[in-house]
Amino acid sequence: MNKTDAPMPEPRRSVAFIGSECYPFVKTGGLGDVMYALPRALTAQNCDVKVIIPRYKCIPWKYQEKMVYRGSFTMDLCADGRSYYVGIMEYVWDGVVYDFIDNEEFFSWGNPYTNLVDDIPKYCYFAKAALAALNFMDWIPDIIHCHDWQAGLVPIYLRTVFDGTPVASAKSILTIHNLRFQGIYDIPTIKYWSGLPDYLFDYAVLKQKHNDANMFKGGLTYADMITTVSRTYANEIQTPFYGEGLDDHLRYHSGKLCGIVNGIDVDQWNSETDKLLAVKYSIDDVLVGKPQNKLALQKKLGLEEDENKFVIGLISRLTDQKGLDLVNQIIPNLLDGNTQIVVLGTGDAQYEDSFRYYENANKGTVCACIMYDERLAHLIYAGSDALLVPSLFEPCGLTQLIAMRYGTIPIVRETGGLKDTVAPYNMYTNEGNGFSFDRYEPGLLWEAVIRAKTLYFTERESWDEMVIRDMEKDVSWDNSAEQYRALYMKLKP
Ligand code: ADP
Repeated sequence: MNKTDAPMPEPRRSVAFIGSECYPFVKTGGLGDVMYALPRALTAQNCDVKVIIPRYKCIPWKYQEKMVYRGSFTMDLCADGRSYYVGIMEYVWDGVVYDFIDNEEFFSWGNPYTNLVDDIPKYCYFAKAALAALNFMDWIPDIIHCHDWQAGLVPIYLRTVFDGTPVASAKSILTIHNLRFQGIYDIPTIKYWSGLPDYLFDYAVLKQKHNDANMFKGGLTYADMITTVSRTYANEIQTPFYGEGLDDHLRYHSGKLCGIVNGIDVDQWNSETDKLLAVKYSIDDVLVGKPQNKLALQKKLGLEEDENKFVIGLISRLTDQKGLDLVNQIIPNLLDGNTQIVVLGTGDAQYEDSFRYYENANKGTVCACIMYDERLAHLIYAGSDALLVPSLFEPCGLTQLIAMRYGTIPIVRETGGLKDTVAPYNMYTNEGNGFSFDRYEPGLLWEAVIRAKTLYFTERESWDEMVIRDMEKDVSWDNSAEQYRALYMKLKP
């Protein structure tokens, strides 16, 4: 029986997703993808889902104009009791209800994130307004599923300020998408803006070292359940190296911590229907379709047009997290006349500049696209032979999943979700989905790329079998949505 024909699991569960971004309205990274795809997958699991995000100015007009005014009220926020407007704009799409919290004062900037001075008040307001909006709409979910530090105060508000109100009957889950960002600021500022009582600014809840409060930490204390986006990352963050200063806190709360790996939206990422490709292809004709996309990619980017070159793609935020210092160190060694490198990303100036330098020094072989470009990303996924993801840490990572779906072999560091989703190639059994290395060293990344190239150039049949294996791999949300549903049922049987 086809999965979509399967009977809906009983009973129905209602879930409010609260987070700071959601594709296609606003997205800066993987969180935006999850906030889009997981609610849709949950509707197929007999869940009623409402997604609550801020109504930023940067949300494209084509969505803004479809929003319907759902109501408004005023809410006190800060310690001085000042009142703030909360508007609710609603948009229903494909079975998911999106409620946008509207307030000109907080969300009038172009980008969702500006700087902590502005972001701390913004997300104090948002956390409280989201819960108040649920009470206002009289829509009381079984589960409130919060995402990252921007929604970190939600579980705290739920059990304190909102105690005794209808919404307090909900259970809360806080998902860690990336522990690096935690919403840390001095106690007086967070105390003022959140209006939370003094006793919460204790080491067990919000207090960090010295005079700082940590919004994520407090949320982790108060959430009924903590999840993160892969099993390996769930273990890693309990160690000092990956714990970002919260490893002891997470070890203490490990009894309510688990990892569920992300999926991808397999309709959005589908080489059979993808209009952004030069040629669409399926598992049956991938060995013909991929080289044609490679040639189109080379032409578009001014690379030497030759389908026999080994094209390595890299699509990433250009930050320390992504292992780019390793890539920079090995680029000269990779350029052997048979290899081309395509980088798509924006971020830290040092990486933008170094990739530009390599492009200038190796015209026709290296291309550095220093930009955010969804359309180009699709062509790179389809036209590359391999995709590099050598991250220092990677909670889940989506690019390796998209790559596999497009028959592009991932070369990854064995950390977080990369370790959980990419089985290393075994030359003896001819199994595996990609190539990997463990310690964070340029030599090991280089060796992994060499292993990939050796297979590509000397045992193409085995390489092609891996391409097909990767395209057949289930990277959809179905599995993960089932696990989230099971968790919801555990919290609210
Ligand atoms: P993170 O959330 O840490 O940035 P993920 O791998 O989880 O990393 O998700 C990255 C997402 O953003 C993927 O969908 C990827 O295709 C996309 N992406 C990253 N950089 C760019 C870019 N410069 N242009 C287009 N898409 C990008």
